[in-house]
Amino acid sequence: MDKATRLHYLEAMGIDVWIPRTSMPLPEAAAESVDAEGPAIEAEPSAPATETDDWNLLQAEVSACRKCGLCETRKQTVFGSGNKQADWLLIGEAPGQSEDQQGQPFVGSAGQLLTEMLRAIGLTREEVFIANILKCRPPGNRDPKADEIAACHDYLQRQRALIQPRIILAIGRIAAQTLLNTDAPLSRLRGKVHNLEGTPVVVIYHPAYLLRSLIDKRKAWMDLQLAIKTYKEFKG
Ligand code: SF4
Repeated sequence: MDKATRLHYLEAMGIDVWIPRTSMPLPEAAAESVDAEGPAIEAEPSAPATETDDWNLLQAEVSACRKCGLCETRKQTVFGSGNKQADWLLIGEAPGQSEDQQGQPFVGSAGQLLTEMLRAIGLTREEVFIANILKCRPPGNRDPKADEIAACHDYLQRQRALIQPRIILAIGRIAAQTLLNTDAPLSRLRGKVHNLEGTPVVVIYHPAYLLRSLIDKRKAWMDLQLAIKTYKEFKG
């Protein structure tokens, strides 16, 4: 995504001034106000050796997984990426075609927009962990089936247990409904803070949807502001 396009999306979300996040943390007073820059969140140190072992085991299990039929059609599994001790865990639905080809979550145009959305609240992809409900691509990007979600559930649970995030962002309807175990529409799930076993969950629009719907980009920025506010409250 070129700079002009990026600025176009941020402008559509109601962000008038955009300043790239620097490596220097903001002063405390500045970090208290939710604005286009967002709070400074320092990167965590690398994981202890024992946790690294668990991650390696989990990643190897996912790579070899044949627990559901998606193993027949995937090019490769998409385990997730980012900081394994992140405060922020972002959970999407499932890999798409680009993700299936590259083995990374949220690549392509939607992934670039997600990166810009994070940047707008002062985060980089290296500071968060991004995963999906499903680790393998459903053919034709169809919705995940219940048996596939059930088969893959344990992997995300174990990722959550290892990361112990302070906040979860559920990206899009499928991820939100699955995580929160509800059939409620996205419109009822957005704009409030949910609780998943003690971790606050904020629901945001899927960037692929935002690429198609300019009108909802301002609401997307409101979701991100709620996420920042919630993070600071729960961080204590
Ligand atoms: S989607 Fe999950 S359960 Fe199904 S094969 Fe892939 S990793 Fe295994």
